[in-house]
Amino acid sequence: MNKDDPVYFVQKADHIDESTQQSLLVTDECNFWSSLSCSGNKRRQTNISILPNKSFFYQKRPRLYFDIHRLPYQSLLKLGGSKLTRRFVPSVKRAHGPGAIFPLTSAEQHLFSVDYHHEGGAHHWYIIPTSERDVLQRIIDHQNSSVCLDHGQLFIDPSVLDKNHIRYHRIIQHPNEFIVLSAGTLAQSFTEDASWSESIAFALPSWIEEGHVNVSVSSCQCNIPQDSLPETIDITLFKHELIQTYITSHLNIITNDTSLALKGS
Ligand SMILES: [Zn+2]
Repeated sequence: MNKDDPVYFVQKADHIDESTQQSLLVTDECNFWSSLSCSGNKRRQTNISILPNKSFFYQKRPRLYFDIHRLPYQSLLKLGGSKLTRRFVPSVKRAHGPGAIFPLTSAEQHLFSVDYHHEGGAHHWYIIPTSERDVLQRIIDHQNSSVCLDHGQLFIDPSVLDKNHIRYHRIIQHPNEFIVLSAGTLAQSFTEDASWSESIAFALPSWIEEGHVNVSVSSCQCNIPQDSLPETIDITLFKHELIQTYITSHLNIITNDTSLALKGS
């Protein structure tokens, strides 16, 4: 956006012209961000592909084994019935080389999400909790009129976050590691090398109880065509009593542990 605040816009290009740089060899985090800021006004490819409804996990394996497909069904989304849970499928993400960029996004309707690293170069994550959204939006608005934080429009140098005292988490994710993102969380990453990963959304009671569900998609400024947006989840399906029953039957781990301890003693 400007020299002092390295924030990058992500745009779809119809063709790749000569001023577009291929990704560079990434040796470490410092090297990555300085190579990006040194590229001046030149465009840089994000160098990623998203493959919706693809997965590295077999379906219908015995319940004994972890299966990423089952996460929405096991989560609070099950209260919406199979019509809702069927909509939630994993997406495979491909980074085509070193320095590939996954711009800033959050999960659909500010849900929780799980990200599984299958194979390839480490991912450097920058994870911004939902409590920092307002401050971040103000900084972005100050530089440029209301760019949306949620839909992959931005890629923010962590120095901008540091300078503005925005709290965030830095995580390096290696193959076979999972990252779980809480409701409303914003996240961006870059890769050290080509890689395969996978992600899926799910819900826990705090998604409703802390009001993340109420996000209005229509207020976003990205001009995403309405018909390509996912259908808004009907929150009237999530009645208070049903959430309580879900908590008792699925999340009451402490009670079970106590009973085990009593048995043991
Ligand atoms: Zn948007």
